[in-house]
Amino acid sequence: MERLTVLGSTGSIGVNTLDVVARHPGRFQVVALTAHRQIERLREQCRRFHPEMAVVADAEAAARLAEGLRADGLDTRVEHGPEALVAAAERADVDQVMAAIVGAAGLPPALAAVEAGKRVLLANKEALVLSGALFMEAARRSGALILPVDSEHSAIFQCLPVDERARPRTEHVRRIVLTASGGPFRDTPVETLATITPAQACAHPNWDMGRKISVDSATMMNKGLEVIEAHWLFGLPPERLEVVVHRQSIVHSLVDYRDGSMLAQLGNPDMRTPIAYALAWPERMESGAEPLDLVTCARLDFQAADAERFPCLALAYRALEAGGTATAVLNAANEEAVAAFLDERIGFLEIPRLIEDALDAVPVSEADCLEAVLTADAAARAHVRRRIEEEGAHA
Ligand code: NAD
Ligand code: MG
Repeated sequence: MERLTVLGSTGSIGVNTLDVVARHPGRFQVVALTAHRQIERLREQCRRFHPEMAVVADAEAAARLAEGLRADGLDTRVEHGPEALVAAAERADVDQVMAAIVGAAGLPPALAAVEAGKRVLLANKEALVLSGALFMEAARRSGALILPVDSEHSAIFQCLPVDERARPRTEHVRRIVLTASGGPFRDTPVETLATITPAQACAHPNWDMGRKISVDSATMMNKGLEVIEAHWLFGLPPERLEVVVHRQSIVHSLVDYRDGSMLAQLGNPDMRTPIAYALAWPERMESGAEPLDLVTCARLDFQAADAERFPCLALAYRALEAGGTATAVLNAANEEAVAAFLDERIGFLEIPRLIEDALDAVPVSEADCLEAVLTADAAARAHVRRRIEEEGAHA
């Protein structure tokens, strides 16, 4: 049995992961599950998968969950807080860790899993955006395997030769092409974007995802974060990482080789495919995804990304080129701006404006230790919050 921790088990990726796991009885044993506030959903997952450990945000949530589990007759140990997340990730009896917490909060347990030499299934792209250099260096030191879960990176990984430690080789690659759906506003007149609501931004045409990544898809910051993620996973410089809009989300990304060959991975937009690939690598297993019918989908369209419509994409390239803690600033400013947008405290077009402002204002340093990264993260958050308050006061 392969022993598994799922960090963020109540989210979109977490639920899809457990769906795939449940299709393979006897193959995986779920050792630890973690959630932030969705206690009832976590309780249900505990009833189904009998983990040894469950982690929630705080003592109050832990008491509620423990009471529920006692009533269910389960002896799952309930813990809470950031240290307990790290403990769930680095447990000696765990082989694989699905890192599916959203945002910077997911970095410490994902990094702990890498440092403990686990096989890490990485959905939490923010971890690499914040501290890609530290993360990849930790994997080199510990021998951890990093298996990408993000659909684009899984596609690229599937199109590259990899060694037995899951390390991809790119010496014959000319460039990597990441596909982007364009999100819900790819055809919306640019003049009307100012009045977009959170509900409209979260209604993605092709994918059903958590709210933060849904807004990131609508601004295309998601693709910007993925360019940075690809830089760290595959070691290519920004000028060899391209983005193309592909509205059907069937081609999940492509690798362009120097001999003129281009390899792509295709499939229906269903995160269970890259999740199953990461769980089973180097083999494959049933995921529950519908097989792709080429005649039904019939068309595959590609077009350039519109820089005016999606200013966040250029901001991500700018941060990657600046290096050091600039990508941590980008990520933190984006998280704060997206949270404010979801709370209806700022408008949709304020998101890129606030991020640009943070990149202009927050000084960049070497990202050579976790402290430097977290300092930049905190400075960017404080800057964006201050700006929102000042502007709210003027409005
Ligand atoms: P989600 O919002 O649906 O779920 C997030 C999970 O993290 C939940 O279990 C939640 O309880 C937990 N969580 C949230 N804040 C936390 C905190 N402060 N401390 C501890 N736990 C916390 O998000 P999602 O869509 O599943 O995305 C998860 C990650 O995977 C993100 O980094 C996202 O970018 C990435 N990803 C998601 C998709 C997708 O299709 N949903 C695709 C590619 C990559
Ligand atoms: Mg993706």
